[in-house]
Amino acid sequence: MRVSEHRLVQARFSSSPHYDDRPTDEISLIVVHGISLPPGKFGGDDVEDLFLGRLDTSNPELADLIGVRVSSHLFIRRSGEIIQFVDFDKRAWHAGESVFLGRSACNDFSIGVELEGTDTTEYENVQYLQLVSVCRTLISEYSILNVRGHCDISPGRKTDPGSTFEWHRLEEALGSGLLRCE
Ligand SMILES: [Zn+2]
Repeated sequence: MRVSEHRLVQARFSSSPHYDDRPTDEISLIVVHGISLPPGKFGGDDVEDLFLGRLDTSNPELADLIGVRVSSHLFIRRSGEIIQFVDFDKRAWHAGESVFLGRSACNDFSIGVELEGTDTTEYENVQYLQLVSVCRTLISEYSILNVRGHCDISPGRKTDPGSTFEWHRLEEALGSGLLRCE
C-alpha cells in the first residue's frame, strides 16, 4: 500500500464533511475501532452515510444517531474493501472524549481506523490482513508510535473493537513496541 497526498492509494475516497484542521503536525497514534449500522448488520451503506452526514435516521434502530457528526479516516469492510473519508493530515472526529498517556483529545494526533464489526463477532481474516498493511503503511509515512483500541483511550465509555479483536495478530505483524500496554 502507498500514501499519496495524505490519501491511501488503495482506498476509495468518499469525502466526509466531518473534519477540521489538526492543532498540531503530530500524527503519532492509530486508533482501532469497530462499528456496524444498524448494530450487528453488515454490508449496508449506513456507516458510510453516517460519516457523510446523510444517514437516514427514520429507522428506529438508528434514532440515537440523529444529529451525530462523526467520521473516521479509514473504514475496512468485512470484504476487505477500504474507504477513506478524511485526509490523514486533517482531524477526523472518531475518538470523542479520550485520553492517551495523559493527553486528552486524541483526535488531534491520531488516525482512526474503523473495522466493520461488533464487539462480539469475530472479525474477518481479510480485515486483519488489510489492517496490518494499513498500519505498516501509516507507520512508514507518519511518526506513529502506538496502536490502540478505542476502548483503551475512552475506557468506561467505549468498548470497541471488542473482546473478539485479536490484538496478538497485530502484535505479531508489527512488533510489541507499538502495542505495549501501559
Ligand atoms: Zn470507536
